[in-house]
Amino acid sequence: MARHTIALIPGDGIGYEVSEAARRVIDATGVDIEWDVQNAGLDVVEQYGQPMPDHVLESIRRNKVAIKGPLTTPIGTGIRSVNVALRRELDLFALVRPTKWYPGVRSRYEDVDLVVVRENTEDLYAGIEFEEGKPETAEMIEDIARLNGRRIRPDSGISIKPTSITGTQRIFRFAFQWAIDNGRRKVTCVHKANIMKYTEGLWLRVAQDVAKEFPDIEFDDRIVDNMAMQLVQKPELYDVMVMPNLFGDILSDLCAGLVGGLGLAPGANTGDEIALFEATHGSAPKYAGKNVANPMAMMLSGMMMLRHIGEKEAGDRLEAAIAAVIAEGRSVTYDMKPDRDDPTAVGTSQVADAVIVQLEGPSVAR
Ligand code: NAD
Repeated sequence: MARHTIALIPGDGIGYEVSEAARRVIDATGVDIEWDVQNAGLDVVEQYGQPMPDHVLESIRRNKVAIKGPLTTPIGTGIRSVNVALRRELDLFALVRPTKWYPGVRSRYEDVDLVVVRENTEDLYAGIEFEEGKPETAEMIEDIARLNGRRIRPDSGISIKPTSITGTQRIFRFAFQWAIDNGRRKVTCVHKANIMKYTEGLWLRVAQDVAKEFPDIEFDDRIVDNMAMQLVQKPELYDVMVMPNLFGDILSDLCAGLVGGLGLAPGANTGDEIALFEATHGSAPKYAGKNVANPMAMMLSGMMMLRHIGEKEAGDRLEAAIAAVIAEGRSVTYDMKPDRDDPTAVGTSQVADAVIVQLEGPSVAR
């Protein structure tokens, strides 16, 4: 069996615990992985002067595949989100967030199996902002009045929403290909083309063009507000949904809420060459070091990673083992119990133990 070398960035906060749990269950699948462990985040700032030292980025670039725990963005310190910087620096333009209901998960919905593909580099999240009161903002307001005839109030802040043909083409090509590779049937373009004609309108038009390149996958589109309602009313109608950055951020959390919350929401940040797998949740500092956080989102990110590196069968086995632990309902963390103070909730490492028992036992077919 081929040996894979993968960068492992434990993160900070609950990152150490959930990463360790994920690493243990991935190793227990038997796939031969050499982990290139790289520390980043709050705990390395003193040593390296920044939360994402160059050698960590270098490791991700070299290994091309990485799995990462959450990283804290301290509020009011001038440190910008390392997560956003990573996506930009490595041009990880697609964020894939599957949300699947597993029997045994307490949720208002059953049989949900959705995937949000979020464009990660453009839109209002591109980070091009003009602060209220600054001279350049006043100049921008004047320029807009001159070029467009519309007067923005002088006491405004401004965010720019770039949407390019290039960026839109590559995210839809990626999403259709992902749908084919993962046996999905339909891609839905989510947009607000009726209002923002030159950005969202372009997004929809390009999506329709790209859809013609993939005749075997069904294609439709939804206006984002309608999409939000439909997801709550009849999520079973949808499959892969492609969204611009901001809508994707919001609706992927909505989707996570449909199937049991953040503890079960994995993700993959993907570019042309590099893929970085991480849970949707953050570093939950109040639970750090307490062995209570749910590692399943991180484990499911590991499942996606195994499939990505060509170890589909191992990924399927890991998913089956996690599903078996959920269905059994005993070895799950507090967030999956009916009551948050349930004394029968187990800790992070015990969830890993239970998944490993399933992987090694008879109930997961090999
Ligand atoms: P969070 O996801 O860390 O926590 C919110 C709440 O959700 C927690 O208090 C906890 O109740 C619950 N929760 C989250 N993960 C859980 C898990 N695995 N098991 C059980 N319960 C869990 O969000 P936040 O409090 O808004 O952010 C904390 C820090 O994490 C911030 O600094 C933020 O910037 C960072 N963050 C990082 C990432 C990332 O690394 N990709 C993503 C989101 C937030």
